[in-house]
Amino acid sequence: AAPSGAPRPRLTFLGTGYLGATYAICFAELGYEVIGFDVDQAKIERLGKGEVPFHEPGLDELLRKNLAGGRLRFTTSMEEVAEFGDVHFICVGTPQRADGMAADLSYVESAVTGLAQHLHRKALIVGKSTVPVGTAEWVEQLVRRHAPGESGVEVAWSPEFLQEGFAVEDVLRPNRVIFGVKSEWAVGLLYEAHKALFDLATTEDREVPVVVTDFATAELVKVAANAFLATKISFINAMAEICEAAGADVTMLARSIGYDQRIGNKFLRAGIGFGGGCLPKDIRAFQARAQELGVGEALRFLHEVDLINQRRRQRIVQLSAELLDRPFGPNGPDLSGTRIAVLGATFKPNSDDVRDSPALSVARKLTRSGADVYIYDPEGMDNASREVSEATYSKSIVDAVTGADLVCVLTEWEEFRNADPAVLGEIVAGKKVIDGRNCLDATVWRRAGWEFRAMGRPAQ
Ligand code: NAD
Repeated sequence: AAPSGAPRPRLTFLGTGYLGATYAICFAELGYEVIGFDVDQAKIERLGKGEVPFHEPGLDELLRKNLAGGRLRFTTSMEEVAEFGDVHFICVGTPQRADGMAADLSYVESAVTGLAQHLHRKALIVGKSTVPVGTAEWVEQLVRRHAPGESGVEVAWSPEFLQEGFAVEDVLRPNRVIFGVKSEWAVGLLYEAHKALFDLATTEDREVPVVVTDFATAELVKVAANAFLATKISFINAMAEICEAAGADVTMLARSIGYDQRIGNKFLRAGIGFGGGCLPKDIRAFQARAQELGVGEALRFLHEVDLINQRRRQRIVQLSAELLDRPFGPNGPDLSGTRIAVLGATFKPNSDDVRDSPALSVARKLTRSGADVYIYDPEGMDNASREVSEATYSKSIVDAVTGADLVCVLTEWEEFRNADPAVLGEIVAGKKVIDGRNCLDATVWRRAGWEFRAMGRPAQ
C-alpha cells in the first residue's frame, strides 16, 4: 500500500447512473474529493442541484450534505475530469446489445477514449461497469492509443456488487473488494482510494476482504456471482413448477432445504423471477462471451436458467385465466373484459428501476391477453408508464384495486405486504388475488374471504 499520510487521491466517476452517482456521493461522504461526470446534461444538472435522479433510500440526504460540504461536484466537462482526478472510475452502462445477447461496450469505449485524450498526467482508470472478460485488456489498448504519449496512464478493474435499494450501505460497507491489476503502483493507489472505506470498517470492528488478482479473474468475479445468483433463483422457481404439479408447497420446501448451511436460505424465494438492469443481461452476455471463447457448452445451463425465469412470468397469465374462469384460445388465455389490478412495477422493492422488470413484463402480457390493467407502484410509476403505455396508472392501491376482478401482487413492497385484505375486499369486484412474490400471508387473506393463489403453492 502507498505510505500512510500521503494526500488522498482525488476521484472521478464517469457515468452517474445507479452505480456511479451512488459511488460518487458515498466516496465524498467518506472524505474524498470527488467529481461525477456524465454525458446526460439533465442528470448532471439535477445532481448539482441536490436531486438524485432515481430512487435510492438515504442517498438524497448524503448528496445534499456533500455538495454543501464542497467535496463533491458534477460536470459534463471531460477536461475538468482529466485535470482533477488521480483515479477515474468507469461506471457507464453496459446494456444488452439490440442485435443479440452480448454486452454493448460502446459507452465504455466512448468514456475511456474521451477521457484518455485529455489525460496529460499519470492517472489510474478503474473499470467498475460489468463487462465481458477481456474488456480490461481492450480498455488498456484504447488508453495506449488515445492518451498522450508520456502520460503513463494505467488501467485496473474493480467490479461492483451493490444492490439497488441497499446501495448506500453496500458501497460504504461492501462484503468484499476486488482489485484486478497489473502493477504495484495500481494496487497501492487503489488501496489509497479505498482507505477511508477500510478505516470505517476498522472503527466498526469489521473487515473488508480484499482480493488482488489479474484483470480476467476480476472481470469474471462479477459475472460468475450473478450467474450463481440467477441460478439459485431459477432453481427454486423450477422447484415451484414441480410443486405446482405435485401439490406441494415451495415455501416450506425452500425453508427446509435452506436450513442446510451449504444451501442457505437467502435468494431462495420462489416468485415471478429475477429482472432488473443486471442479472438478465449479465447471464446473456456471459453466454455470448463463452461462445466467443469457444466454451459455450460450459454455460449452456444459463440458457435454461433464463427459460425457467421467463416461464414464471407466463405462469401469472395462466393462473389469472384459471382464477377468472377464462377460456384458452390458440394464442393463450383470453382475458378480455376483465379488470386486473397489478400491484408493483419495479423489478424489486425500494427502487424505481423498471429495467426488465418481471412485474411490468407480466402487466404487458396481461394487457396483450385483453385485460384492462391498472398498475400502482410506490416509486416506479414514471418509469413504468414510459415503458408500458397500454396500462392505466393508478394513484394508490385503493385506486388500482377498486372494481378489480383480480389483484396481482408482483413486487414485494412493504406497502403491499401491509395492505389489509378486509379493507380491499370491500372495494374489489372479485376477491381473487395472486401473490407473485410469496410475500403475503395466505391465511390472513383467505380468512378475509379471498381466493388466494401463489407461486409454487397449493390452491387451498
Ligand atoms: P445507468 O444506466 O443507471 O447509468 C449509466 C450512466 O452512464 C447513465 O447516466 C449514462 O448517461 C452514462 N453514460 C453513458 N455514456 C457515457 C459516457 N460516454 N460518459 C459518461 N457517462 C456516460 O446504469 P447503472 O445501473 O448505473 O449500471 C452501470 C454499470 O454498472 C453497468 O455495467 C451495470 O451492469 C453495472 N452494475 C450496476 C449495478 C446496479 O445495481 N445498478 C450493480 C453492479 C454493477
